Amino acid sequence: MKCIHCQGEMRRSTTPLHVDRKGCHLTLDAVPAWVCDQCGEAYFEEKEVDAIQDLVEAVEQKNEALAVTA
Ligand SMILES: [Zn+2]
Repeated sequence: MKCIHCQGEMRRSTTPLHVDRKGCHLTLDAVPAWVCDQCGEAYFEEKEVDAIQDLVEAVEQKNEALAVTA
């Protein structure tokens, strides 16, 4: 697998991930991903993207329960 930016070798590694949603910031220190040796670009596999989306949706729903209703 090659990096689409610099054609560097991609390696199985982990990358930090930050997700910003309305009033909600989620930071994961180490998400499994393919990371480029040269430029550090990270790519997630489909199952990782799905898991991240599940996590973000769950956090959003819990966060709405805590929202101030004026
Ligand atoms: Zn690269």
